[in-house]
Amino acid sequence: DVRGLDVTFEKKELFKKARVVRAVKDVSFQIAEGETLGLVGESGSGKSTTGRAVLQLVPVAAGDVTVAGQDLVALKGKALRAARRNMQMIFQDPYSSLDPSATVGASISEPLLVHEGMSAKDARARAVELLELVGLRESHVNRYPYEFSGGQRQRVAIARALALNPKFIVCDEAVSALDVSTQNQVINLLEKLRTEFGLSYLFIAHDLAIVRHISHRVAVMYLGHIVEIGPAERVYNDPAHPYTQVLLSAIPDASPYREKSNRILLKGELPDPANPPSGCPFQTRCAYVMDICKQQMPPMTSVDGGGDVACHLQTTGPALAGSPLGDLK
Ligand code: SF4
Ligand code: MG
Repeated sequence: DVRGLDVTFEKKELFKKARVVRAVKDVSFQIAEGETLGLVGESGSGKSTTGRAVLQLVPVAAGDVTVAGQDLVALKGKALRAARRNMQMIFQDPYSSLDPSATVGASISEPLLVHEGMSAKDARARAVELLELVGLRESHVNRYPYEFSGGQRQRVAIARALALNPKFIVCDEAVSALDVSTQNQVINLLEKLRTEFGLSYLFIAHDLAIVRHISHRVAVMYLGHIVEIGPAERVYNDPAHPYTQVLLSAIPDASPYREKSNRILLKGELPDPANPPSGCPFQTRCAYVMDICKQQMPPMTSVDGGGDVACHLQTTGPALAGSPLGDLK
């Protein structure tokens, strides 16, 4: 349960004065037990920072993060380390979480030896069990990360993340570097593990196509803000924010019924996060921009069909014309 999360950084550039960047601004969302929330947005939108802040891996400037009833922001030292056992992170590049000079058996066993004080023999047996759980074999236990394919390495990273029986996993672009068929296999594996263990996922990806099949709900981030959140089906079929429409239109051949490419091209660049525009964060690139958008931040308003959107069109302007992809059902 994340409420009003703020993360700020100091951005230092050569020959320039350090500037304060609000990387995550007033972000709120809830994820239920056994639920997957997809978090999408282009790079630099604050998705990864949100994931890290939830796990208390970067300092939280304001807001509350409660996981399994525990207020994490208030915890420090030993208590925080103990609470972190409930939570894990899986990255895009398993090399960042797996030690290339250690066998995968050693990498998977490490949290068991450190946190559970298991004997080496028991830890090895558990590592084998975890390898089998993610579709690998006992014979893999003594191999090194470089001996595996990208998809297999991601399976190893998942096995390691599961070692301490977490409740909540942040998957940060966990399948983005894999080819499409491997992506599907890893997503199916994550789905199987979610149902088997009642896991909750925050599933971060830069495009909506990847999160489509795994997310119950989807949140869209732009320039540090969540601009739309709602049930996946409603967001895909009937996006309420112009930026969500843009992201959806970028999915190649999403529907066999689509006659021509309806791709919406964004004008301009992503604004400098250290110097965000006034009013709506999307106003410099929005095709529907109105005067009010330049002056006032649109409040989160509920959407027919479920969820919320932060856009003045919802209260002031004409309704959007539905999904650029047509009906996806
Ligand atoms: Fe576009 Fe205005 Fe809505 Fe922002 S509030 S997304 S500028 S219409
Ligand atoms: Mg990222």
